[in-house]
Amino acid sequence: MKRYLSAIKPTGKLTLGNYIGAIKQFVTLMNDGDMILFVADLHSLTLPINPEELRNNSRNIVAYYLAAGLDPKKVHVFLQSEVHEHSELAIILQNYLYMGELSRMTQFKDKTQKMNNEAIGLGIFTYPVLMAADIVLYDTDYVPVGEDQVQHVEITRDLVHRFNKRYGDILKMPRALIRQSGARIMSLSDPIKKMSKSDPKGDIFLDDDLKTIHKKIMSAVTDMDCRVCYDETNKPGISNLMTIYSALTNKSFEEIEKEFQGKMYGEFKKEVAKVVVDEIACLQTKYQEILASGLVDKVLKEGKEYASTIAEKTLKRVQNAIGLYRYE
Ligand code: ATP
Ligand code: MG
Repeated sequence: MKRYLSAIKPTGKLTLGNYIGAIKQFVTLMNDGDMILFVADLHSLTLPINPEELRNNSRNIVAYYLAAGLDPKKVHVFLQSEVHEHSELAIILQNYLYMGELSRMTQFKDKTQKMNNEAIGLGIFTYPVLMAADIVLYDTDYVPVGEDQVQHVEITRDLVHRFNKRYGDILKMPRALIRQSGARIMSLSDPIKKMSKSDPKGDIFLDDDLKTIHKKIMSAVTDMDCRVCYDETNKPGISNLMTIYSALTNKSFEEIEKEFQGKMYGEFKKEVAKVVVDEIACLQTKYQEILASGLVDKVLKEGKEYASTIAEKTLKRVQNAIGLYRYE
């Protein structure tokens, strides 16, 4: 059976980008194999975060996973920090990735661009090492992610190759899995920038009130051309709205272009807003029910047990292979 593994960092409130690029993909894949999802709370420490916010964000991610339709009978969900093997394996694997490679990671460059070199934490630099540990710990086949995370899966593949060349066939080679469209939702106010929960300019949050969502879409930055057609380079704003609309309606870009031929941007935006508001309204209702039900804690407890059993075995296999003495 194929194994899928993915995660979201509790660095802020979930965005429409996380929903379309990640969560909706999980829902599509959940019947197709063993799915392990976690809340990447250790990764979230790479940016300054208030403890109360971290706790709430972590809980809310699980509630949104479930509200989006992930079935806890089929999907295992846990907190990264509750399975200590992630940290232990990362300490080992840090020796198989190189500083040159890590310093070339786009996420590292983006997130530290405006920071003073003296104040860049080590965690943001070694992020791909922990992410590699996250992935290989579960003998993962596929990592469903948004486009921005593909580079981290690629460096994990380099690590696996390097490690296995030296020690034999110890780590499973993973593969990134991205949606054909919707793998990169852009900011509504600056459509050449990715929508990110830790940089909330131009984001749609899953817990925004519905009027706000409508307003944000109606005032999304577009261009002067007035034709609804897909052109990422010259019409990034309209292309982004088309991507959102397509991801939520399953209509192709050609169908959308036909539907809005000769129509004004205002009319198109209204329709996009309606589709997004309908989807999020439904999600919010389920989310509130789940938060009130106590299901989150139950799911996390079961998920932790399931994940720990697999993680323990893999860590032992790695320790054994590299010669760490085991006396049991
Ligand atoms: P942060 O700003 O803290 O990095 P983020 O919004 O980028 O937050 P992550 O926790 O880094 O979210 O990523 C969670 C998942 O959501 C990943 O699979 C990532 O690829 C996906 N994702 C994040 N932003 C987008 C986006 N704008 N479009 C599509 N997928 C996205
Ligand atoms: Mg991110």
